[in-house]
Formats: sequence, C-alpha cells, structure tokens
Amino acid sequence: MDYPKPLFVHVLIFPLPLQGPVNCMLKLAELLCLADFHVTFLNTDHIHHRLLRYTDVQSRFTRYPKFRFEAISDGLSEDHPRSGDRFVEMFDAMEAVTYPLFTEMVTSGDLSSSSDRPVTCIIADGIFSFAVDVAQKIGIPLLYFDTISPCGLWTYLCVPKLIQAKELPFKGDDLDAKITCVPGMEGFLRRRDLPSFCRSSDLTEPVIQLILKENHELPKAQGLILNTFEELEGSLLSHMGTLCPNLYPIGPLHTHLNTRLCPKLASKPPTFSNSLWEEDKSCMVWLDQQPLKSVIYVSIGSLAVMTKDQLMEFWYGLVNSGKRFLWVRRPGSIAGDCSESQIPTELLQGTRERGCIVGWVPQEEVLAHPAIGGFLTHSGWNSTLESIVAGVPMICWPYFVDQQVNSRFVGEVWKLGLDMKDTCDRVIIEKTIRDLIDERKDELMARADLMSKLARESVNEGGSSFCNLERLIEGIRVMSLEASRV
Ligand code: UDP
Repeated sequence: MDYPKPLFVHVLIFPLPLQGPVNCMLKLAELLCLADFHVTFLNTDHIHHRLLRYTDVQSRFTRYPKFRFEAISDGLSEDHPRSGDRFVEMFDAMEAVTYPLFTEMVTSGDLSSSSDRPVTCIIADGIFSFAVDVAQKIGIPLLYFDTISPCGLWTYLCVPKLIQAKELPFKGDDLDAKITCVPGMEGFLRRRDLPSFCRSSDLTEPVIQLILKENHELPKAQGLILNTFEELEGSLLSHMGTLCPNLYPIGPLHTHLNTRLCPKLASKPPTFSNSLWEEDKSCMVWLDQQPLKSVIYVSIGSLAVMTKDQLMEFWYGLVNSGKRFLWVRRPGSIAGDCSESQIPTELLQGTRERGCIVGWVPQEEVLAHPAIGGFLTHSGWNSTLESIVAGVPMICWPYFVDQQVNSRFVGEVWKLGLDMKDTCDRVIIEKTIRDLIDERKDELMARADLMSKLARESVNEGGSSFCNLERLIEGIRVMSLEASRV
C-alpha cells in the first residue's frame, strides 16, 4: 500500500550516548526547533533517565510543540560504568542491540513512512556507520555530525594514508618522530600528537577498525556538521572538504544557541544545563569569593579516568603551586579506592586554604566566572571550545581519542595554552600552573582574548558559522522535501 508522503521536515537526531555529543546535539536540536522543523531526539534509556534526573530538559523543550524525545536501549546493564576505559564494550553492545532497534524504528516502526510522523532527514553521530544503509533503505538524506574536533577527525581520515605510507604502526618507540603525511599538519605533528589509538602496534584492534569503517562511510552522507568555526580551523576544513564535500562548521554550538536565543545576553553563560551528573552550585559561591583570574579550574571531563598515582601528582602539583584551584572529581573518575585517611595532611591543609573540590559543575558558568585564570583540562573538544569562547588559557593533559591532537593545536598552533601530554609529575604540574598564571600570562591572555572574540563573531548575524547554519537549515529543507516527493 502507498502512504501519502509528508510535506514537512522532520529531523531525527541520534547522538552517541555520551555527555559531550548529547550536549552538543541537544543544542543543534534546539537550533533546528527555532527553524520550525519537527525534531525527534533519540536517546538511549540510560542517558534519558539521567537527563530527566539532573536537568529540566523535558520542560525546557515543551516550548517547541514539534519536538519530541524517544529512547531505546544501549544494550548494557544499568550498573555498567560507561567510562572511557570501557569504550569498546559500549560499541559492541550498541551494535548488537541498539542498531537493530534504530533500524526497526525508522523502517517499519514509530518513525517510519507508515507512521503519522515519518522522518525526512537523519542527523547521526559520525561513528554510527550503519546509518548510511538505513537512510538509503528508506530514501531520506543523512547528515553526519562529528562532535569531536575537526583537527582530530582529519587525522582519523588520514589513518589509511598513514598506514599506506608506513607511518603506522610506529616503528621503534620514539614518540617525538615527526608525522609527514597528514596534509596541513606537516612540521608540527609528532607521533605523540596522533589520536591515542595510533599508539597500538596492532591495526586489527577494534577501535582502529571502527575508525576505518567510519572513514569509509562518512563521505557517503549528504553532509558533515562540525562543531567549530572557520576562523579557528579554516585551512583544515579545506583539506577535509576534498573527502567530504558538504561541510557545515556551525560552532561553537553553545555560543551559537545562546546568541540565537537571546542576542543581547549571548556573552552570559546559559542558566540551563544538559548535565548527566548533579551540578554542585556551591562552587559558584566559592568562586565569588576569589580574586580576579586567580583560580585554576581542573576537570578531566565525563569519560577520562585517573589512577591513584596520577591523582596524587595532580594534587601535589596544585597545592605546591600555591595557586587557588577548583577541581571537579567526577564520581568514578579515580580508579581504585582513595579514602581521605590515606591523604597526607599537607594536601588536605593546602586544599582547605586554597581549594574547592566538587563532583560536577556547571562548566560553562564556571569558565565564564571572572575568578578563573586557567583551565587544566583533558582537552575534550567541548571543554576546549568552551574555554576558547570564555577566553581562558589552558593546560592540556589529554587522555584519549582526539584529545592528543587537540592539545597539540592548543599549545603549538593556536598558542592558547601549554601542552603537558604524556607527563604526570608534580614538579611539572606546579611549574606549568605558575607559567600559565604568572610568567606567560600576558601573552596567553592576549591570544585567548583574540580567539574568544573571533568565536563570538562567527555566530553573530553574517558571521561564518551563522551563515553555515542558514545553509544547513536550507539544505535540510530542500533535501527533505525532495525525498518526500520521490
Ligand atoms: N562538563 C560539565 N561539568 C563538569 C565537567 C564537564 O558540564 O563538571 C561538561 C563540559 O562543559 C563539556 C562536557 O561536559 O561540555 C565534556 O565534554 P568534552 O568533549 O570536553 O569531554 P568528554 O567528557 O567527552 O571527554
């Protein structure tokens, strides 16, 4: 039986079920709601429960009557930690359980052409290679949204080239050897700056296979959405455009959304949150009592895990620097047991005098606080962009995936901070903090101010990201209507 084809735009957004991508894609979802599209946001049950528990996301979106949430299983048990060190298990479970559910949903289920709300366009995380087949099967456009950094993504896309040129796997253990065949990064990219999985000697490892599959499928989508702005990564975007024709750099997304929601208040951080942990707002009161640009903010994001030894090096480095610090210790982010009775008195005392340790913070608000003078970060892409917008110089301690590339760009290309990768030593941490807050403060602050200004301008009317979003919205409209007429 033939069903009537819809003459409206209905975008299905399917993020990777992790804090960073979910946060980003919710912002994109709201931007598409502002364009008056129907939008369905597909979460995994686990993520959805946590969003409902810790945010007002449900009531916030009621102002968009064409918006809906849906949720499906991620295939893991409720008590699975879903942390960075268990990444492969998460992908295996999704492949076995989530992908078939997703396929069923759009081909014959609630969002299929036989339903009263058929989907006319899919926006999926770039890692979801299966989405190409699904979109082709039902004859609708697919756009990928890769929420990692474009500089990181470009190195992923060059992995086949690196293998062919025998730069991968590494021969010998010199991590400072230069990498020559990533176009646009010649001269400054070392082995240690490649994504963490490139350090493996075994190219058949699941993560590498996943990346190779992604590389293969990414160019088949009708477009690739990126959370960046042309003024930051323009030259890499032109290299990437040779493989993926329709690029839509529309970031920084958090600033873009704030600007469109309320241009006059765009420089203020939002009062809403997409956090998967409970935000401890007491840190804002603590920050209010600290002098201007005096505090180092420390966070390793939502996935990274520290060993107990690394924790102690960080702690000594922070306390010995004599600077004030606000440190996020996400539940589950320290491997093993670490009770207060094992902590040396000088650390507890230094923390009482100058520190504040909490479980999770409203990060955009924290970074925008005038007391913040630097960010000791794991170089996750969202954190990096949030720091850039806030004009806060960074100390980078990358953990995995694109973070090794990001920290090289922060330190060497954009000159927005200091890269501490592959070291975790209290003396180095102490010195790097002093360099950031005292010795090299003026030079780093000048760069951070400039880049923050460019980031904000890019999302203002007529700016590069603003225009790219307009182009994306028009592209989705045209492709959706074309697909519904076929
Ligand atoms: N974040 C937050 N509160 C915290 C720590 C992190 O809201 O206490 C947010 C941060 O603003 C960012 C996201 O969590 O948007 C982390 O994403 P990122 O890409 O930086 O790193 P990942 O967690 O994916 O490693």
